[in-house]
Amino acid sequence: DLPPFPRSLCVLGATGSIGESALAVAREHPAQFRVTALAGARNVELLARQAAEFRPRFLAVLEEEGARALKRLLPPGYAPEILWGPGAYVTLAALPEVQVVLAAIVGAAGLAPTLAAAQSGKIIALANKESLVLAGHLIRRACRETGAVVLPVDSEHNALFQSLVGHPGDDVDHLILTASGGPFRDWASEELARATAAQALKHPNWSMGAKISIDSATLMNKGLEVIEACRLYGLPQERVKVLVHPQSIVHSLAAYRDGSFLAQMGQPDMRIAIAYCLCYPVRLPLSIPPLDLAALGALTFREPRHDDFPCLGLARRAVDEGPAHCTALNAANEVAVERFLQGRIGFLDIPRAAAWALDRLAPLDDPDFMTILEIDRATRQAVADFLTDTT
Ligand code: NAD
Ligand code: MG
Repeated sequence: DLPPFPRSLCVLGATGSIGESALAVAREHPAQFRVTALAGARNVELLARQAAEFRPRFLAVLEEEGARALKRLLPPGYAPEILWGPGAYVTLAALPEVQVVLAAIVGAAGLAPTLAAAQSGKIIALANKESLVLAGHLIRRACRETGAVVLPVDSEHNALFQSLVGHPGDDVDHLILTASGGPFRDWASEELARATAAQALKHPNWSMGAKISIDSATLMNKGLEVIEACRLYGLPQERVKVLVHPQSIVHSLAAYRDGSFLAQMGQPDMRIAIAYCLCYPVRLPLSIPPLDLAALGALTFREPRHDDFPCLGLARRAVDEGPAHCTALNAANEVAVERFLQGRIGFLDIPRAAAWALDRLAPLDDPDFMTILEIDRATRQAVADFLTDTT
C-alpha cells in the first residue's frame, strides 16, 4: 500500500550528495512531501541550514558535540528533537510518523538504519547499496515479514526497476548494468598504478560523494552493483552483465528471452531516480533540461577491461562464495578507499586488499546480523594491518 501525498520523509545522509539532491526534489514539490526527519554525520552547518528550511521534527548527528553545535545554529522558535550517535539513525528510520525513508548514508554505517526501516515496514528509497551487499538476505526477509518495500535509487537499479515494472519473471533472460568506466577508463594499464585520489575524484559524468567516486574509478562500484542487482532481483551473477557506456545516458537494460531489450534513459542527474522512488508510482515534473539525443549523436557500448580493473571480477567471486564474502569485500574496500583518499596507498592496492580479504575467509551460508557485524569488524582490522605491513 503506497501512502497518499503529502508523504512523510526521513532523509538519512541528508548532507551528502544524494541527500542534497533529495531535498532539491522536496523543495521543487513542497505540496508532495513533509520532511519529518533529517540526519547527517558531522556537517552540522549544512544540516542546520536544511533544518531551518524544512523544519523537520527530528534531527540526528553522529556525535554529542555535533548535537550541541547544531542546536546553537537553529533559528529561534524552532526546537526539534536532536538525537545523536549511531543508534539515532535507527530510531529515526523506525519513527511511526515516517512513511518513506531515504537511505543515503555512505558505507556499512547505513546497514543498521536500513534494516530498522525494513523491520518497521517503511517504504525504503535505497541509495545505500552497501547495506544490500552486506545483508541483502536479512533486508529481504524483514521486508517479507513487515510489508516494507525497497525502491532502488541507484541509477542502474532504478533503470532496471523501471524496465522490469517491478520485478522480473521467468521472461527475463539477463540484466545489463551500464558503467561510465570512470575517469581512468581510457588510461594505459601501466599508468593505473600512479593514479591519484585527486584524479579519481574527477568523475566524467556524475557528481558524487568521495567514496563512490573512488569506487567508480576502480569499478568496485559496478561490482557492488552486480551484487545489489542479484539481491534485488534474485538472479545469479552470471545473469547480470556489465557494459561500459561512456555517455551515461542509458542507465541499464533488461534483456527479455524473446530478444527485446528494455532500457531507461535520461540525463545523468540523480534527482530523476530519487524522485521516482519518493513519489512512486507518480512521475513528478523536474527542472532538468530534456535529453537532446540529436546533440549527443551516438551512444556507444563496450566490454569492461577486466584485467586492468579486477574489482568487478572480485565482486562476482564474492557473490558466488556467499554473503560473508560480500561483507568482507565491502569492508576491505572501505578501509582501502579511505587510505587511498588519504594518499597512504596506491590505486592498485585497493583491488589487492579486496582480493586478500576474500582469500582469508571461509564461506558461511546464512550469517545473522551479529555475525555480519563481526565479519565487517574483523576484516577491517585485518586489512588495515595487511595494508600497513605491505605498503
Ligand atoms: P556522500 O559522501 O556525499 O554523503 C554521505 C552521507 O552520509 C552524508 O550525509 C554523511 O554525513 C553521512 N554519513 C557518513 N558517515 C556516516 C555515519 N558513520 N553515520 C551516519 N551518517 C554518515 O555520499 P553520496 O554520494 O551521497 O552517497 C550516499 C550513498 O548513496 C552511498 O551508499 C552511495 O554508494 C550511494 N549512491 C550515490 C550516488 C551518487 O550519485 N552520489 C549514486 C548511487 C548510489
Ligand atoms: Mg549506480
